Amino acid sequence: MEVSIIGSGYVGTTVAACLAAAGHRVTNVDIDTAVVDAINAGEAPIHEPGLDELVGRHGGDRLQATTEYDAVRETDLTLLALPTPSNDDGSIDSSILEAAATSLGEALADKEGPHVVAVKSTVIPGIVEETIAPQIAAAADGTLGEDIHVATNPEFLREGSAVEDFQNPDRVVIGADSSLARERLEAVYEPVVEGANGDVPVVTTGTREAMMIKYASNAFLASKVSLINELGDICKAYGVDSYAVADALGLDHRIGERFLRSGVGWGGSCFPKDTDALVAAARERGVDPVVLDAVKERNDRQPERLLDLLAEHIDIDGATVAVLGLAFKPGTDDTRNTRAVPVIEGVRERGGEVVAYDPVAVEDMRERYPGVAFEAVASPAEALDGADGALVVTDWDEFATLDEEFDAMATPVVVDGRRIVSRRDGITYEGLTW
Ligand code: NAD
Repeated sequence: MEVSIIGSGYVGTTVAACLAAAGHRVTNVDIDTAVVDAINAGEAPIHEPGLDELVGRHGGDRLQATTEYDAVRETDLTLLALPTPSNDDGSIDSSILEAAATSLGEALADKEGPHVVAVKSTVIPGIVEETIAPQIAAAADGTLGEDIHVATNPEFLREGSAVEDFQNPDRVVIGADSSLARERLEAVYEPVVEGANGDVPVVTTGTREAMMIKYASNAFLASKVSLINELGDICKAYGVDSYAVADALGLDHRIGERFLRSGVGWGGSCFPKDTDALVAAARERGVDPVVLDAVKERNDRQPERLLDLLAEHIDIDGATVAVLGLAFKPGTDDTRNTRAVPVIEGVRERGGEVVAYDPVAVEDMRERYPGVAFEAVASPAEALDGADGALVVTDWDEFATLDEEFDAMATPVVVDGRRIVSRRDGITYEGLTW
């Protein structure tokens, strides 16, 4: 199938490369020429395991990129993978999606035959049906359900394992109120489902239900982490190892073993934004989201807990604090809503200086948060050398093997927010929730 994807970030590039690998011809449309040039040169524009190889194999061939929306006319299906950031009140800002909808519609105006568009961006139910779809149809001078068919197809991949997640999904969700849209989306996913041994449920629902499945999934997972973090705090207060508790807890099939690692909290581009959007959407319709409010509050408190624990051992005022990890999780260079921001700001508010190390995320952090002040160094050893304390924010594997590097600290106090550092003689080790 000929597929176009508007927006070539974490979702758009990964989906494009995986669909090209599955045998489709895919064109990415993005306004960022650096992204477009990278893909055409066979280079992944973002850091994601396995993506370099796929873009290297198909980029410039079955996978093409362009800044021109006109490319969509040659395709059977367009996926929209554009950012849907938050407004100040937490609600969804759909303006980028709306601008793209108009450009897409204009490009489709001269197309012969019906075109299917599927929104992959995460948006509150109603936005696609009431705003995006009519805008595409109006700009295309076409009729919805005849010339233009608009579906939803939420994406569940996780940064850090995006390729693996897309190629082996737990389920594919297709939200389509038109049979043509459903058939084309089923056809595009067919080789993906076959590649995963055919063992992938394809859930077809209405467009609104599909988007609510995405919000409900993220709300559930964020709640699970916030609950295990709260249980972790209670465990620590009673001298109980929360990880021993979580291991046994996870053996209960009703609970499941994943997302039970307590620590400094969730971040990233999805959980905070999607939880905020769902809370705002609930309030807008008169629903009081008491559980989700608490889920957010618990998450906001975890970085402060990390700092309080450090302050039990050293005076942060005037101290140099090593921060290990800036990415919101390992395997990615993405620092959107990383816990490193409140941690670094917290150290500075208490009068300390920060020396930080991350294997891939320093550049992203500098670009996104120019006001967050820290010195970046090239290794954990350099960060720890002479530091008065260390705070572990991201569970990069390399932190698990740190050993004599701690000997160079001025005061060897380590507060681990991710249970990754090994306890050893000669350091004062504090686990955040154990
Ligand atoms: P991103 O910020 O990584 O990428 C978005 C891309 O869109 C950028 O390359 C940008 O240059 C491009 N762009 C912006 N405006 C454009 C326009 N008018 N026309 C063409 N291109 C334009 O975003 P992302 O993380 O891939 O997220 C996209 C959507 O998918 C969001 O709604 C997000 O909530 C959802 N989502 C993200 C993830 C994830 O792990 N990142 C997972 C599931 C769902």
